[in-house]
Amino acid sequence: MSSYEVVIIGAGPAGLFAALKLADSGVGRILLVEQGPALEERRRDQPGGILCGWGGAGAFSDGKLILSPEVGGFLSELLVLEDLIALIQEVDGIYQQLGAPAELYGGDPDTLELLKTKARQGGMIFIPTHLRHIGTENCQKILKHLRERLTGRLEIRTNCRAQSILAKDGVVRGVGLDNGEQVGARYVIAAPGRAGAAWMREEARRLAIPSIHSPVDIGVRVEVPASVLSPLTEAAYEAKLIYYSRTFDDKVRTFCMNPHGEVVLEELDGLVTVNGHSYASRKTENSNFAILVSSTFTEPFDDPISYGQYIARLANLLGKGALVQRLGDLQVGRRTTAARLERCLTRPTLKSATPGDLSFVLPYRYLKDILEMLEAMETMAPRINNPHTLLYGVEVKFYSHRLKLSPELESPICNLFIIGDGAGITRGLVQASASGLIAARAIIRGR
Ligand SMILES: Cc1cc2nc3c(=O)[nH]c(=O)nc-3n(C[C@H](O)[C@H](O)[C@H](O)COP(=O)(O)OP(=O)(O)OC[C@H]3O[C@@H](n4cnc5c(N)ncnc54)[C@H](O)[C@@H]3O)c2cc1C
Repeated sequence: MSSYEVVIIGAGPAGLFAALKLADSGVGRILLVEQGPALEERRRDQPGGILCGWGGAGAFSDGKLILSPEVGGFLSELLVLEDLIALIQEVDGIYQQLGAPAELYGGDPDTLELLKTKARQGGMIFIPTHLRHIGTENCQKILKHLRERLTGRLEIRTNCRAQSILAKDGVVRGVGLDNGEQVGARYVIAAPGRAGAAWMREEARRLAIPSIHSPVDIGVRVEVPASVLSPLTEAAYEAKLIYYSRTFDDKVRTFCMNPHGEVVLEELDGLVTVNGHSYASRKTENSNFAILVSSTFTEPFDDPISYGQYIARLANLLGKGALVQRLGDLQVGRRTTAARLERCLTRPTLKSATPGDLSFVLPYRYLKDILEMLEAMETMAPRINNPHTLLYGVEVKFYSHRLKLSPELESPICNLFIIGDGAGITRGLVQASASGLIAARAIIRGR
């Protein structure tokens, strides 16, 4: 059995930043395994293509580096604020070395105050965010630079899946690979992301790693002419709004705004969901963002991932993929047909979505929450609650199985670290990358 100092599972931002930190600190004998292909071989239109391969979900992401500690994950619950801010600065510095642009978005303090006031008038909370926008087309370049920095300093195996984490007497021993090989390791860092969330959940169950009840986020992608969203996107680029719905008192939030962007499909394990991104240079006439509703389950059902999958499957059953509906049709209780979509003043950027009826897919509770949020947003983006607004369904975030970990992201299995979106502790590029640094730092200290 070959043996390594550290085995890292997953080449997304979390795994890659851990690898970089370890290599920079002189740790030798590191193996990085990634179930997807190498960067050049990645094809976004293949099953799992968006999420799997060198760069993970980051490769085709919008590349918005969100630098506010309260956004993009739960690291603020594990670290003191000053440490997290310092860590985010370190991550930001590395991305800039790799080619991220210097320009920072976030708005001036007076504009942010105004947005806060307007949000309050609509019954919402506005969370200011500072971010750098890499753009989908530039993410690949950054990932290429990252690979150049790592080449020759560790062993990289793509198209290689970790099948099991090996542990004995409460201590990690290595990793079993899908070719039947077993590799020994003093430390294992599991960074399987959303693509590996179901696998991680099963491994965590088998290894008796406890988890925390966490919400599942289900909703729609909203698309409007860019001018409708510009009061928000021009002032703050990414306006994070939180709303507690009138009828159900559910937490509803906006997520991932893409000015002049496009709506895209995401395919995983045979399920098609929607997402959005924007290019730094190529602009469309529309902007999009998600409205997501958080729900937590406890007893007797506590499987948010299965619930989200069930809803996505229903949308796929009816739409043979993703669905799109005009808000006006949803409001009056009728299906959007191809003819009605043709008459829609907002031209859909995702052409393959089937015109349909989201009320056959989303439970009343979610629909009501989404409709109420759109009403509330009128104070900030007039004409958003308009019959010609497009809603694509469904958007589901499968990052919800959150594991119970130490502040250093070590599991109860000694020397097994679980990081990034797959651990349920992060939800974005910066915090995922930061989680890689946290685990690497702990390993460097403990050697
Ligand atoms: C379309 C899209 C747009 C996005 N836009 C943004 C954005 O603008 N800003 C932002 O902050 N975030 C964005 N995100 C989210 C961001 O990409 C993720 O939060 C981030 O990539 C998570 O990093 P990670 O390393 O934890 O996991 P991932 O990036 O998901 O990487 C995990 C990797 O592990 C591999 N893997 C899984 N299981 C195994 C196994 N058993 N063996 C070997 N390999 C395995 C997977 O194939 C994958 O490559 C976007 C996501 C998507 C899909």
